[in-house]
Amino acid sequence: MKYGFDKKIYEAWNSMSPDSGRWYECLGCGQNHADALHHNFGRGGTNKRYRKAFGSILNSVPLNNELCHLPSHSKIKRDEYFLEQVFRIVQKAVRKGEYRMVERDEEFYEIHSETYKSLDCKLENLKL
Ligand SMILES: [Zn+2]
Ligand SMILES: [Zn+2]
Repeated sequence: MKYGFDKKIYEAWNSMSPDSGRWYECLGCGQNHADALHHNFGRGGTNKRYRKAFGSILNSVPLNNELCHLPSHSKIKRDEYFLEQVFRIVQKAVRKGEYRMVERDEEFYEIHSETYKSLDCKLENLKL
């Protein structure tokens, strides 16, 4: 895993068990070849609050860099599919005690709370 996110995010993905995290699974194509994390909703631009929040694990998407990230980057949408997939993975990891929510996760959730609610992804499910 490489590029862009804080080291802790890569460590968090790598420490999830396959059953909850599937960190090796590329969410772009489903093959087990993820080696990079894409910023689903970008990096938050110049807004300080957004920059911090968009560094959340909830904004990170495992992809294969060569095959599924770089070639199609302009076509990868800021995507509800990714938002939901990652939420469900992190939720499982929280339940199994493999991940603990931090402030930027809560901020990211708040910024996208309307979308999360429409996907039936509840904030309390990310808390123990
Ligand atoms: Zn792929
Ligand atoms: Zn990207």
